[in-house]
This record gives sequence, structure tokens and C-alpha cells, in this order.
Amino acid sequence: MTRLKFHLEATASGSRARAGRFTTLHNEVLTPTFMPVGTHAAVRAQRREDVLESGAQVLLANTYHLMLRPGTAMFDQFGGIHRFMNWPRSVLTDSGGYQIFSLPGSRSISEEGAQFKSYVDHTRVRLSPESSIAAQRSIGSDIMMVLDQCVPSTVARDVAQAAMELTHRWALRSLAARGESPQALFGIVQGASYPDLRAASARAITDMPFDGYAIGGLAVGEGPEEREDCTAIVTELLPVDRPRYLMGVGTTRDLLEAVHRGVDMFDCILPTALAKQGVAFTSMGRRDLRRAAYRGMEGPIDPDCDCGTCTTYSIAYLFHLQRASEPVGWQLLGLHNIHFYMRLMARMREHILADTWQSFYRSQRDVLDARDSYGRAPTHVTKAQRLARKLKLGRYEVVVRDGIGRIRDTRSGEVMHSVSDPLEEARALYVEQSRLVERLGSGPRLGSGERPFVVWDVGLGAAANAMAAIGAVEAAERAGAEGRAEAAGRARVEGRAEVTEPATPVGRRLLLVSFENDLDSLKLALKHPAWFKHLRHAAPRRLLADGYWLSPSGAMEWRLLRGDFRATQTAAAPPDLIFFDPFSYRTDSDLWTLGAFRELAKICSTHAVELLTYSYSTSVRAALLAAGFFVARGRGTGPKAETTIALSPLAAAGAHGRELLGAEFLAKWQRSDAQAPLGVEPGDESWRAAVQGHPQFSQLVNLGKNVN
Ligand SMILES: [Zn+2]
Repeated sequence: MTRLKFHLEATASGSRARAGRFTTLHNEVLTPTFMPVGTHAAVRAQRREDVLESGAQVLLANTYHLMLRPGTAMFDQFGGIHRFMNWPRSVLTDSGGYQIFSLPGSRSISEEGAQFKSYVDHTRVRLSPESSIAAQRSIGSDIMMVLDQCVPSTVARDVAQAAMELTHRWALRSLAARGESPQALFGIVQGASYPDLRAASARAITDMPFDGYAIGGLAVGEGPEEREDCTAIVTELLPVDRPRYLMGVGTTRDLLEAVHRGVDMFDCILPTALAKQGVAFTSMGRRDLRRAAYRGMEGPIDPDCDCGTCTTYSIAYLFHLQRASEPVGWQLLGLHNIHFYMRLMARMREHILADTWQSFYRSQRDVLDARDSYGRAPTHVTKAQRLARKLKLGRYEVVVRDGIGRIRDTRSGEVMHSVSDPLEEARALYVEQSRLVERLGSGPRLGSGERPFVVWDVGLGAAANAMAAIGAVEAAERAGAEGRAEAAGRARVEGRAEVTEPATPVGRRLLLVSFENDLDSLKLALKHPAWFKHLRHAAPRRLLADGYWLSPSGAMEWRLLRGDFRATQTAAAPPDLIFFDPFSYRTDSDLWTLGAFRELAKICSTHAVELLTYSYSTSVRAALLAAGFFVARGRGTGPKAETTIALSPLAAAGAHGRELLGAEFLAKWQRSDAQAPLGVEPGDESWRAAVQGHPQFSQLVNLGKNVN
């Protein structure tokens, strides 16, 4: 017997749309239903009285945010979230998986769980299936979710499959951790946009005795058709006697389509998030109060709505509040939007029970979420269109999400640093992981005539990696200067002679060489400093104008080498460190071939060099091994569980502290159907022996244990 006692009341003719009910620890829930999102134990800009009034039966709260603030001890003190926020109905808590993988910042993931940096106090926090359940038990939700690894729905198949399999193992651990708790627990189906993975995941998760089943990892990059197809594939495989929950979806039209495909439960931030921007969902489609056409318009924003906003205020007044950025304008529109969502779900339920679903569905498909066209002159060039022109240069365009700009290659569609904050990723993956600042500090002192520490930045792009490196060195210089000032102050107070501190903690000069064959990406990003904050610095403009930049302290030089990397690499000073960050082989195919890595290995053969790259594909690693590099596992970033570090033989022979790939990689590679490195001629098998016989895998030279 499950904890929710789900009862299926009706399934619509000619559709999978269904009406049901289940009972939680606090109330009976009628489905289909929408759950307003109360991230921080509050629906944004809404009083809980108004949320109750809207008819919401379940509130969604975010474990990730609540465990960081106020912390689970607060829920232990209050006996749970219900008493803490005085919410008498059900609460569903997500597991934190989605937030860990979607929010910017460094995090790593292993079999055990995820580790990330708290945005509240910057401490390192671990989240495992067990600790997520423990937090959700403290919060005291009616429905808990298992910890899953959420990846964008558009990732490569091997990434999607690995995340799915980890999610399955974590699901079992979550069930065990729930134990005898009366709280219900839902499993989550993953598998990105790959229909066979979705089906495999649905089968694996429904083999486990959960109280309900969720579809995760959608609404994160795929188109609506893909989303609807994936939803249909999964709902067909889910048991009829448990509730089904499509996570994070969506617009009113998305809800209609998903109910049609057999989903019972939804959550989404759109009703309140769009309210903040002045957008209302109405029975006539969306209305966008930022549009001047609404100035002075009388009557409610939705004549078919009986919510407090629509029965009290005119469009003209709401328009005015929006223009004046009055918070109450946001609140009033949010209140209407939540009412509209709840009423839409109630109407869907009525039509399913009355078996009039088909005609309702057809009548609503093109009305719900239709874009606002009130008062629009059809041939006018809109602001958005004018802006779109400014956002393109050559083959590149700017895409903006959450106020952060990224560069997209319009030929391949590939976006640089598509998932994480580009600067965060550059810091975590290239600057911190390479220990660049420490390595500069341990070299000979500035001015001693030694050769500088040379970093190659392959694929300048919008200069995120280069500026992350420059920013880290500048921060170290500032910290050193503050340390010296403090020491001098102490010396004066104590009447001692001033201590002579080292000139700077950054002892060795840095020579940063960026390689780029198309500077349009940097030029385009420089036009939009609001979205590319790391470019608010003198260096990038000087680099474009002069081809180089010298830091005021003389500790850094940045040079630009234009042209194709394979042609210009021999012209540069040999590197100590390589940030290998071009577009992927889909766009920059030439740089990922065995031939390209062999040329690079030759340049790196005479001294200790580390190469860091975001790719961790088996064929790229095989190419690096075949070219003569030693290959180690790099830290994870965004949805990537790991990245790759290649070491020249001399780097591998030293105390490098890297985790070299071992026999398990060789076994995985042998099973892989993409064994050959890119760019290998058919019939050429010379690389195979080089991978299999690589000294990294032999017992004699077991460098894999060579960890600090
Ligand atoms: Zn209303």
C-alpha cells in the first residue's frame, strides 16, 4: 500500500488525460493540479493567505535553498515547514538536484553525492541521496523527491546515460534512507531527450516502490515537440495507480499538452516570474503590460477572471504600477497568474470527469499562451528586432540568460559555456584547477631574468579564461599589497623597523598567449559589457588594438596570436600550461584530431606541461593518449561529471597530484563504439597500440598512485 492512496477517477476518451485524487499527511489533493513554487518557504511576492485563496493544494519548496537558509535546525525547532510558515496544506520538496546542477558556481559530483559551495556563506556543502532525504525529513514535507543528477536535455548521449544510471543508483539509496517515515517519496525518470534512455529510465525507476513518479530534466533546453514526445514515452510506461509529476513545466499551453499525455502534477515559477516582468496569463492568451498599447485601458486584465486583482483593478492602473516599478504591481499580477493557473487546472479536471476533454483541449490549444498582439502595428520594426541586429557579428551572436551573456556560433548553433556562468566555469576549470596563482608564486622572483610562466589560451572566444587568469593574479597582487601594508603598520606600532616583504606573492612573470582565428566573438562581447562583466577592464581592448597588453605592475603580459592554432602554435613561446577551450569538434573539428594532438605533444615533449580541457569524451582522451600525453581526470563543472587534464611525459614523471585514468578507462574505451580518435584515416591502426600499450596503464610505471 502506498502512502498516498492514489485513486484514478476517470480517463478522457481519446486521450491519456486523467482525473484522480490522493491523500497526503495534510489534505486531499485533486488532480490534475498545479503546485505554486515557494522556493524560500514563500511564493514570491505573495502572502500565503492569497495562495490558499487561489485553491493551491500543494506548495513546492526547494530543499537546496532551505538547507542553506534558514538551515534544517530551524525546521527541527518548529517541527517542520508547515508550522514555520503556517501553511495548512501539503508541501512537496524537491531534492536539490536541479539547483546544484543549474546554478552557477563550482561543484563536483561523485558516486557518493554532490559537493558545492554555499551561496550563503561560501562553505563547502555535501549533498548525498541520504542527506537530501534527511533534510527533507527535517523540513517535514508531505512528498519528498529523490536526489537526481539533472543534465540539460540537449547533452551528448553518453553524458545523459551516465547521469541517468547514477540517478537510478541514487534512487535506491533514497528509498532506503526514507525508511519508515510516513512522508511519501517520488522517483525521478531522467534520460535527456533520448527516447530509448527515457524508456529505460522509466522501467528502472518504476521497478522501485515509489509513491509516485516524476519526469525530470525537461524544460531545460529542448523544444516543445521534443518535450511532449518524451513526456508521452514516459507516461505510457508509468503505472496507472500512482501520481505522475512533470517537474518545472511550464506555460499554460505546456500544462494542457502534458495533461493530454497523462501527467497529473506540475510546478513552475512562470506565474510569479513573468508577473515581475509585467506579463499576465489570461483567457485571451498572454498580455504584456510593458506595451504602451495598454496605457489608459479600462476594465480588468482578464474579464473571465474572478480573482482579487481582476475584480478590483483596471489594466490602466496595473500598467501604471508596472511602469513605476511598484512592488505591489508585481504582487497583483502574480496573484492573478496563480489564480489563472489554478482555475485552468480545475477546468481541465471538470472536462476530464465530464468526458468533454477532447473539445476543450482543441478549443484551448491555440488560445492559451498565444503571444500578445493587442494594438501591434504589423509592419513595424520592433525594439526586439533592432536589438537582435546589435546582437550579431559575423558568424557569432550573443545569447543572454539570467543577465549573463554567452557567444553562440550561428553555423553550428554551439554556445560557449552554455550551462554555467562563463567566468565561474573559467575560474573553476582552468584557473583554480591548474593552481595557476600558486605556481606563479613558487617560481623565481620577478626580475631575476628567468623565462616567464607561459599559459596558452587556445580559443580566446569572449576572453573568459584569459580574464579569469588575469583577475586571479590581480587578486593575489592586491592581497599581497594589503599584507605588506598591514605588516608595515604593525612594525610602526611596535616601534620596529619595517619588515621587507616580498615584492608580490606572484613571483614569476606570467605570459598569457591567446590563440584565435576569428576575433568577432570578442569584438561582439565588448559591445555588451553589461552582459560580459569580465570585460570591464583595460586589457581586452588593448589586446584587440595592439595585439598585446602589459599589466601596470609588469607581472603579466597578454599576447594575441591571430590565425589557425595549428599554424600559429610553433610561433609562440613553448607553454607550461594550456587552457584548451575551443568550440567542440562539431565547430572546430580540426583542433580535436589525432594529428593536432600529435603536433601539440611534440611541442610539449621537452618540458613539463599540463593541458586542461572541458571535454571528457572517450575518443578525445584516446587521441591524447595516442599522441603521447598522460591523461588524468579533471574536476566536474556544470552538468559534466568530470573534465580532462593531459600531462606531458615530464609533467607525469613529477609529483603532479593528478588522478590518472586507470584500467577502468581502458576497459570502457575497449567497449566503446567510438574508439578511434578523430581524423584517423580508415585502415590506420597505428594509434591503437599506442593507447593499449601506454605506460600509464602498465604496472611498472604506476603513476596513478602518484597523488599528493
Ligand atoms: Zn484575475
